[in-house]
Order: sequence, then structure tokens, then C-alpha cells
Amino acid sequence: MAYLPMPRLCTTSFISLFITTLLTSTLSLPEELFSLEIGTKIRSDKQSLMSVASDFGNLTKSTPAAVFYPSSSHDIAGLIHFSNIQSNPFFISPRGHGHSINGQASCPDGVVIHMESVGQGRADRINVSVANRYMDVGGEQLWIDVLNAAHAHGLGANSWTDYLHLTVGGTLSVGGISGQTFQHGPQISNVLELDVITGTGQQVTCSKTHNQDLFNAVLGGLGQFGIITRARIPLSPTPEKVKWIRLIYTNVVAFTRDQERLISVDENERLFGFLKYLEGSLLMEQGLIGNWRSSSFFPNNDMERMAQLMTKHRLTALYYLEVVVAYDEDIAAEVDQELELLLNDLSFVPGFVFTREVTYVEFLDRVHDGELKLRKTGQWQVPHPWLNLFVPKSRILDFDAGVLKGILGSDKSKGPILIYPMNKKKWNSEMSAIIPDEEVFYTIGILRSATNGNLEKMLEQNKKILEFCTMEGIPFKQYMPHYTTKEGWMEHFGPKWDKFLELKMKYDPKGILSPAQKIYAFLLEDEYII
Ligand code: FAD
Repeated sequence: MAYLPMPRLCTTSFISLFITTLLTSTLSLPEELFSLEIGTKIRSDKQSLMSVASDFGNLTKSTPAAVFYPSSSHDIAGLIHFSNIQSNPFFISPRGHGHSINGQASCPDGVVIHMESVGQGRADRINVSVANRYMDVGGEQLWIDVLNAAHAHGLGANSWTDYLHLTVGGTLSVGGISGQTFQHGPQISNVLELDVITGTGQQVTCSKTHNQDLFNAVLGGLGQFGIITRARIPLSPTPEKVKWIRLIYTNVVAFTRDQERLISVDENERLFGFLKYLEGSLLMEQGLIGNWRSSSFFPNNDMERMAQLMTKHRLTALYYLEVVVAYDEDIAAEVDQELELLLNDLSFVPGFVFTREVTYVEFLDRVHDGELKLRKTGQWQVPHPWLNLFVPKSRILDFDAGVLKGILGSDKSKGPILIYPMNKKKWNSEMSAIIPDEEVFYTIGILRSATNGNLEKMLEQNKKILEFCTMEGIPFKQYMPHYTTKEGWMEHFGPKWDKFLELKMKYDPKGILSPAQKIYAFLLEDEYII
């Protein structure tokens, strides 16, 4: 078949074995498993199965055959090895904190690994080396615990996610982005070393210089090549206090121009050292559901002024640029000077500058506060038809006109909408994560909650957004991609598809890991069979 994107190093029989494995691996678990020590850590009671049936997206439901509660990496390796030696291997999927949107950590008919149980009651899963400025953390650890452990020594990671109640392995499998990405790259660009259990059950240590292909494959690899059980994260000194500033815009051209100016600040400029974060968002309403990512930033009377501004300009939303700078006492005067120069240079609406001083930890953990409020009202558990895209800078105004002002129109208010740029040079093109091929590109996060029976409409709008981008020739990429067709995945990976497949066959030749990403299910289709 000419269409097959044949990995250069593969033989025909290897592909056939791979396909046969995929075809047969939906059988239930072998009895023998339950006679082993690891078998005592497997549960298939209703409560265990239901606890992993859904995820944050709450759009899909799928129960596995069983849930595995390992106490160590060794247990995980044992389970994968056991699956490998079966004539009909079973699927295995690590589940971090279950914060995917489309069931990516589920495992129909296979075993879900409850990763967090590896770290339960084990203080040795987070180790800070102050002398070496790095920390070793278990893949199952939450970033909030990483923050607290490092901050106790005045240190922190360079690159975070906005929300820290996600596992290290979970975010390193997708990329890990936030307002530090423009400056330091995504989280996957900020890892020194990993311990990985591959799809054959081997425990491998890898880094930029050692088993480099596995290191690059796993980072942003959507759980396809191995399970991350340890990551070594570089640390830098962190401020105690920060100044958190929001600037309001009515005009998208000024808003994007200013963001692009800020992300191009040279590493030698004084400002670069103070800058700790930059993101842009749409501002629609003060209500919790639209604003939970930092629910208490704007007091009510400020919101009234902004409502008047929207009315005056006949807008359904404003834009705001959010900047955070280090603000410890010894540098405060210097930072104020730099900020004054900076603000003079930017084109936000005069008088619409809002500032707060908070601790750095408070700032980094700001989203959790909104989570707690939403949980209280039962709104955290609603369906989340989120859509995350990377859009090249050259087409951001088209996207704004066609999607934000067009397709979403006045429907924007059911969740935060993020729009902020990052620099391609801070990403490593050898890693599995896929980004647009342009020096600067925007992250768009349409993070809506379906509260009043509006799920179908939101899903339909998401579909229209993707169709619009395709029809208009906007070379976007999905972040945390979700495709249901082979063409979709091949288009997503583009020239990297062959390499991805080659590495899959090297590190997970039986196609056991994270099947719900549905990347390899398409190998079963006719045109792939030689
Ligand atoms: P899961 O959902 O449990 O798993 C995700 C995938 O990774 C699955 O395929 C799973 O099999 C695989 N996986 C899990 N653990 C491992 C491991 N140890 N080794 C290998 N593969 C593994 N993302 C950002 O980049 N920036 C943000 O600011 C951000 N904010 C978010 C806020 C909220 C409220 C939510 C719900 C999500 C947010 N995300 C953000 C997305 C998040 O990073 C991803 O969904 C991430 O994969 C979730 O991590 P998790 O631990 O819940 O992983």
C-alpha cells in the first residue's frame, strides 16, 4: 500500500505483529495476574472503576477492566512486563490527576494505573538539591507540591502551568505551558533527566545526552512511549513578592502588538530579569464561571467601569494583558522605574491599569481558589468542552475576527478565554510536542463550562472553529490534541509522523500504552496493512 507512512527502520513483519497485537488486546485480564504480588494491587470493584471512568472534561465515560494501585515504579514495570509476555497483551494507561478533556487517560478493557498511589505516604518522592539547583520529583507528584517543596529553599521551577493541581507526568506528556513559556519555554524545555518505564517494562534513565531519543519522544509524547516515574527539574531563585498587573485594551491590534513587544524583551535588558509572567485574556464578565482562574482580582466597582467601557465601544468583551514582576523590597524602587518606562510604552486604555501585590506562591496558586469556589457550587464537575489551539502570529487577527468576534460572538462568557504569544525558539523541535512553524505563535484557550444544557452548542462551535481555521488556511495546531481520524493525526504530526511511529515501535512495540489517545487505532485500517 503506497499510503502507509512506513517507518524507515521497520520490517513488514514488525508492522504485522504490531497490528495483530492491537487487534487482540481488548481481551480481559489473565487469571494468573491475580496470583502475583502486583495482582494484590489491582481492583475491579465498581467504586474503583467508576473513580477513573471520567475526567475533568466530563465529556466521555469509559470504565477499564481494572485499576492498578502501585506502591513503586517497580510495580509499574512489573505490570507492563506481565502484559508484554502475554500472547494477548492488555492495554495500560497511566492516569495522573485525570485532568484531560477527552478521556485521554482512560483505558477501555485494560488497566488504568492510579499514578498518585506511588507517592502516597512517601516523602522520598520529592528531593530538592539546593547545591545543584535541581529537584527530583516523582511523575505522580502534583506541581503544587513541587512548588511548596522548592519554595521552602527560596527556589522554584522556571516554567509552570496556570493551575498546579496537575501531575508532573501528566503535564510533561502534553507540554506544560503558561505565562512563563515565552521566556523559559514550556515545562518540557525545563527538564534535565527522566526515569521512564517503556512499553516493554524496561526502566530507563534518559536525558539530552543519554538515551536522547526516548527523552525527546516522551516529552510531549501523549503517554505513548513510556511512563514518567521521575523528572529532574532545574531550579532558580524565586522572589517572595510580586506585582501583578492587568492592563485593559479595547483594540486587538494594540493588545497583540504590546504582547509581542513584551515577549521579545532581550535577555540582556533589565526588565527581562524582573518579568515573571505574561498572558493575555478576554474580559467578559465578573461572574465566577467566566472568571474563576483569578476570581478575586477585580473589585466590583472596577468591573462597573469596564462594563461602561464595553458599552461605549459597543464590545462584547475587552482584552487584558497580565504581567507579573518580581517585587521584593530590595528591588522595588528599581522595578517601579522599569515599570513606569514600560507602561509609557504600551497602548492600553489610559487609566485602566490595575495592580495588586501578592506573594509569589499566592500568585502561582491563584487558580486553586477559583476551583474551591466552583466546587462549592457544583460547577467544577460540569462538562468542559475545552479547545486549546496554537495560532501563528501572522494569522492572529484573522482568528480574532473570525472566531472570537465571529463564531463565538456574544457566547464568550461561559469560561475564560486566553490569548497570549510564545517564542518558537524556546521549544525543542526534536521533542514530540507539535507547534506551528512560525517564530511567534499564540496560545488560544477557550475554556468554557457547559452549565445550562449548552454543551451541544459549545461542541458545535468548537467544530466550526476548527473548520473555519482549515477553510481560511490558518496553519494552527491543537494543544493537547484530540483527533478521531487517521488523517487528523497525520496532519497534526506532519513531517514528524514517521519518526513518532518509529519510536512507538521501538519503545512500545506491542502498542500497550495510553490507547485512549487513539493515535494508533488507525493502524488497523485497511490502507495501513501491507
Ligand atoms: P491525566 O489527564 O491523568 O493524563 C493525561 C495523559 O498523560 C494521558 O494520556 C495519560 O495516560 C498520560 N500520563 C499521565 N501520567 C503520565 C506519566 N506519569 N507518564 C506518562 N504519561 C502519563 N495545561 C497547561 O499546559 N497549562 C495550564 O495552565 C493548564 N491548566 C489546566 C487547568 C485545568 C483546570 C485543567 C483541567 C487542565 C489544565 N491543563 C493545563 C491541561 C493539563 O496540563 C493536561 O490535561 C494534563 O495532561 C493533565 O495532567 P494530569 O496529571 O491530570 O494527566
